[in-house]
Amino acid sequence: MDRRNFLKTTAAGAAAIALAGGPASVLTSCASKPAKSKVALNLSFQTGIAVGESYSEKFDYMESLGIVGYEPGGQELVKNYDQIAKALEGRNLKVSAICAGFRGFILAEDPAVKADFDSSMREIIDAAGQIGSTGVIMVPAFNHQKPCKPHTLETRDYLCEQLHDLGEYALSKGTVVILEPLNRGEAFYMRLVADAAAICRDSNSEGVKCMGDFWHMKEETSDYGALMSAGKQYLRHVHIASRGRRVTPGEDGEKDNYVEGFRAMKELEFPYFMSFECGCAGDRAEANTKAVELLRAQWEQA
Ligand code: MG
Repeated sequence: MDRRNFLKTTAAGAAAIALAGGPASVLTSCASKPAKSKVALNLSFQTGIAVGESYSEKFDYMESLGIVGYEPGGQELVKNYDQIAKALEGRNLKVSAICAGFRGFILAEDPAVKADFDSSMREIIDAAGQIGSTGVIMVPAFNHQKPCKPHTLETRDYLCEQLHDLGEYALSKGTVVILEPLNRGEAFYMRLVADAAAICRDSNSEGVKCMGDFWHMKEETSDYGALMSAGKQYLRHVHIASRGRRVTPGEDGEKDNYVEGFRAMKELEFPYFMSFECGCAGDRAEANTKAVELLRAQWEQA
């Protein structure tokens, strides 16, 4: 048998074995895989990314770039709810997520700080549900937040219990909480997307989801692996920035390659949003236009 025939035979044999012995789920997922190119890239801006003074100006600008999501801060949403809701009326723009904004933190040792977290977070969740947000982003504890419960198994159990209650509350308001893993310089407690996803699972509430931020994900060994580890069940949001200085995507040149991560998002048929959370090294309007083009091109490539 020559080499070509040998490869043909063994490939056919391997396929036959896979069909005969593979679990049904594997066959189903292969059979139902959509054309990756049909999955849309839903781009979103945080308030500071959009050029313009008023919400109406910002939203006009975003629509001109084909941006379909908007991510306000939590305090901003509570304070300017009516203004934001009115400016969004009749537009092709959805609230993609709410970026934190609560006071205190969930792992605070001081009961007063924890109580402040509980009340302010619930106030933001109420507003998020009312405006139809995909979720409310939170971090369990930043490195600088002290006194903080020690990083032990008991603390993790406590976190999961607390998140369960918060997730159920968010569900009752029509939204979810979204855990954001950060790099170790900001929050060593939860750094990897897979770790956040495991906390979602162990919180045992459909109201607890997680996200990936391409900036913080520089600590991951694989963008693809990180986002796939959260999977359809837990991945609810994505943040994007350049990968050298956390400025606008594209401003760090060749470092700004997101194709692997985008491939995961396509394979997951990710239906939610990817928000710009970044500074800008040059002119904001010019950088945004180029970034949108770059990301759409990489999405096509993925
Ligand atoms: Mg982020």
